[in-house]
Amino acid sequence: MNLIQTINDVNQCFESQQGQFLSAPYRSYDERIIDLKKLKKLLLDNKEAFIDALNKDFGGRSSDDTRIGDIITTISGLNYTIKNLKKWMKPQKRKVGLLFQPAKASILFQPLGVVGVVVPWNYPVFLSIGPLATALAAGNCVMLKMSEFTPETAKLLANLLQKDFNQKQVAVIGGEVDIATAFTSLAFDHLFFTGSTNVGKIVMKAAANNLVPITLELGGKSPAIIDDKIDIKLAVSRFILGKVLNSGQTCVAPDYIFCPEGKEAELVEELGNVYSKMFPKINGNNDCTSIINNAQFERLNGLLDDARNHGANIIPLTVESVDKSQRKMPLTVLTDVNDNMKVMQQEIFGPIIPIFTYKSTTEAIQYINKNDRPLALYIYSFDKAFQQEVLLNTHAGGVCINEATFHVANDDLPFGGIGESGMGQYHGEEGFKTFSHGKSILEKGHISFAHLLFPPFGGMMHKLVYKLFIR
Ligand code: NAD
Repeated sequence: MNLIQTINDVNQCFESQQGQFLSAPYRSYDERIIDLKKLKKLLLDNKEAFIDALNKDFGGRSSDDTRIGDIITTISGLNYTIKNLKKWMKPQKRKVGLLFQPAKASILFQPLGVVGVVVPWNYPVFLSIGPLATALAAGNCVMLKMSEFTPETAKLLANLLQKDFNQKQVAVIGGEVDIATAFTSLAFDHLFFTGSTNVGKIVMKAAANNLVPITLELGGKSPAIIDDKIDIKLAVSRFILGKVLNSGQTCVAPDYIFCPEGKEAELVEELGNVYSKMFPKINGNNDCTSIINNAQFERLNGLLDDARNHGANIIPLTVESVDKSQRKMPLTVLTDVNDNMKVMQQEIFGPIIPIFTYKSTTEAIQYINKNDRPLALYIYSFDKAFQQEVLLNTHAGGVCINEATFHVANDDLPFGGIGESGMGQYHGEEGFKTFSHGKSILEKGHISFAHLLFPPFGGMMHKLVYKLFIR
């Protein structure tokens, strides 16, 4: 069986990967490039199969959402890694202090060993092959744990990877939460988790038992703040794709908007105009991705009911009634929102967008700062002073100015959260470093003056060294 689905097989696979790594602890540049090119070919040759598998997993995944969110992003990251790997692998020269001369100092980027990668359901190709590619580029063996909610994608990935990679180097694990729990308890050399903040806390505890270093790529409520001076039409045109892609089931989707007071009606109207052009209808529209399962569909509708009960104004941007069997939800705008509503207490992760109005930038900044640090923050403004005010006075994993979500796909920018939205980074060179150990090396040649500091102490040389270096 290509897809590993029992705890026993997970444990055996881990042991065999450990053995494999010990037998070949430093894959050469050429070997790594071959691995990356195999991954790229696998994806290019099987695009349609991935589109199909994701469509089945979601019960309706727009093929373009897959092309944009899963395929382009992954291919682009692979191309970038292939292009830059030689440079990243090169040992870095460092300076040697006068006291230690003559010597050479350098950093050797060494593979960590066996890396565990936990994958969520929302972009299961980008969030599995992405970290896999980076971990392979760094020379590791990799075990991927796919989400229980994307079994078709997991099966396909396992079958395809099996053709090109030995399971001792790359393995795919399926199964339910019991397998995920066993997986995250293994003594990996690094554990890379993408998922929710709540599960991230559980996973971090499991990793702590073995002192496993961990990267947590989590979620959160990513705010968008619109400057009073920007044209609302323009702001909407830059903002909306990030919210509707994958029907808002995106970790960096804008979660809520700060709109200048007095412009809310214009914003709602423009959102409606643009949205209805993008999606003239929802039911039966293949461009509109379904909510992945009934539990998520119910959760999102529960957020709307709760907001309504607490006095919010609910504005679906389509007149159609929702056909529950298709689980397609229109983008729904909420006004008159407050913090007593569940929609403002948890990550939305769906096509709902609450709007707050603000009088002063300080007010918006204070609101952002009193809440958990978000994964992303979006600024819509061409005013440098406004941009700087928000940038310097708030924290977020990453920021996009006058666009939404695209910063994630810019390969040379590291990606990761801060605080409740995660720790550690990947993508680009930072990703390579996350999956490598930067081993510091000080190398002395034939000449060494260390003997000048040998005891007995108190001699002229000691006095001279102390005089020169303790100041
Ligand atoms: P999730 O936390 O429910 O599950 C993520 C993974 O963890 C799955 O593979 C699941 O099988 C596994 N898992 C579940 N329970 C576990 C346990 N007790 N122990 C170990 N592993 C367990 O998240 P999800 O619903 O799949 O994805 C949505 C969340 O992921 C959102 O919060 C979203 O913001 C976040 N996300 C973050 C990023 C990012 O890059 N920062 C990207 C995508 C999604």
